[in-house]
Amino acid sequence: MKNSLSKKITMTMAALAVGVIFLTTAFSSLALNWNFNRYLQKAQEQQNRRIIETLAELYGEATSWMAVRRSTMYVGSTTGTQIQVFDRDGRVIADSLQGMMRMQGPGIRWERAQQQRGRLYEYPLYVENHLVGTVKITHLGQQGLLTGEAIIFQRTVRQTALLTGLTLLILAIPAGNALARRLTSRFTGLTAVAEKWGQGRFDTRVKVEGDDELAVLGETMNRMASRLEEQSKLRRKLTGDISHELRTPLTTVQSYLEAFLDGVMEPDEKNVRAILEESHRLERLVNDLQALTDTEPGGKALRLVPLELGDFAGRETERLRPILLQKNISLQVERKSSPVLVQADETLLVRILGNLLINACKYTQAGGQITLSVFCDKDYAGIAVADTGIGIAVEHLPHVFERFYRADPSRSRATGGSGIGLAIVQEMAEAMDGYVTAESEPEKGSTFRVYLKKA
Ligand code: ADP
Repeated sequence: MKNSLSKKITMTMAALAVGVIFLTTAFSSLALNWNFNRYLQKAQEQQNRRIIETLAELYGEATSWMAVRRSTMYVGSTTGTQIQVFDRDGRVIADSLQGMMRMQGPGIRWERAQQQRGRLYEYPLYVENHLVGTVKITHLGQQGLLTGEAIIFQRTVRQTALLTGLTLLILAIPAGNALARRLTSRFTGLTAVAEKWGQGRFDTRVKVEGDDELAVLGETMNRMASRLEEQSKLRRKLTGDISHELRTPLTTVQSYLEAFLDGVMEPDEKNVRAILEESHRLERLVNDLQALTDTEPGGKALRLVPLELGDFAGRETERLRPILLQKNISLQVERKSSPVLVQADETLLVRILGNLLINACKYTQAGGQITLSVFCDKDYAGIAVADTGIGIAVEHLPHVFERFYRADPSRSRATGGSGIGLAIVQEMAEAMDGYVTAESEPEKGSTFRVYLKKA
């Protein structure tokens, strides 16, 4: 890998060490300079005050500039400053540097003094409360004061920072490498497992170590694998079931057609009707499979709107009443006195109620009764479909919502059922955030309840 994780981590650690050296040196220099400048200014101001006092005393002794003129050069050279004295009219009385120049001529000291001219201070000169002139003081070569302890201290700080940084750098590279290796080995493990899943081997699991983010990722991936494994099994089962379901009607149609061709059977009305019945069965199966696909995540978009269950139940039963009458089954609808509103997709609810009513009709003998009632509790409301039919045995009841499950295969096939009707009911109810329950007593009847969230 060109820019592997371990390379990136090592580089980051090294960059961090270099950053530490740079920042420590920069901050310590800044702090040192700031403190030193403050100290320097205070010291210079104190010195200036003493120079002014001396000059005032010198002037005061004879109330003339004579002594001041004579002593300025001496005071200037002993204090390391250029002192310029002006009288009240701004005429130059004395300049300590000019005196020195006269005596020594320009030399290295003069050059250095000029290069390192400090700040210029200006003060009025008072003698016994009378303003006699102005004094300008410039500190020369004061940067030289940063010698001694301050410089040693600054150098020590720089060296310590450099040393710390270098040690960090030396430690960071192997430490970063080791950390990176540990992390990458775990990532490599995850990648290897994910690759196996890519090949369809969902039984492989990630080895979860510790309780950090990678461990959480491993657990999440394992959960995902379990779901994928389950889905893969279901898909295999479903494909098997579908081909089985398709084979029976297809074989029947083929047999009839071959018999017609061989002249063994006449294509009379009865036989053609039998073929038609099988093709209807195929059509129902295909429609049911489409309905199941629509309810899956990513299938048809849901349109949940408030729906009044009383009106809805009334409308739908009227549509199905002729089928029930044909079989001499009575249908009763029990509505609530007040409106019951639920969040539902009407198309799905039509299908749910249709499937439940058709089942009730299929599994109820002539003369029986179907009751459709609207119920309402705290968070949910719904419709119950109860019949007085053959009922479902206890061992079958928990499975009736599974795809292609038939409690009584021979009877169910005879009535045209494929075992998908209730799976559709359940998946559609769940798609609308609801659920379905089933209660039954053999030979007495069954009750299916569809619960939907109240609007
Ligand atoms: P089918 O298309 O075979 O009816 P369903 O998924 O609708 O498939 O139902 C699954 C099984 O549950 C049926 O085969 C039947 O045995 C049983 N069943 C469903 N509804 C009823 C009912 N109202 N009374 C008795 N048995 C029922």
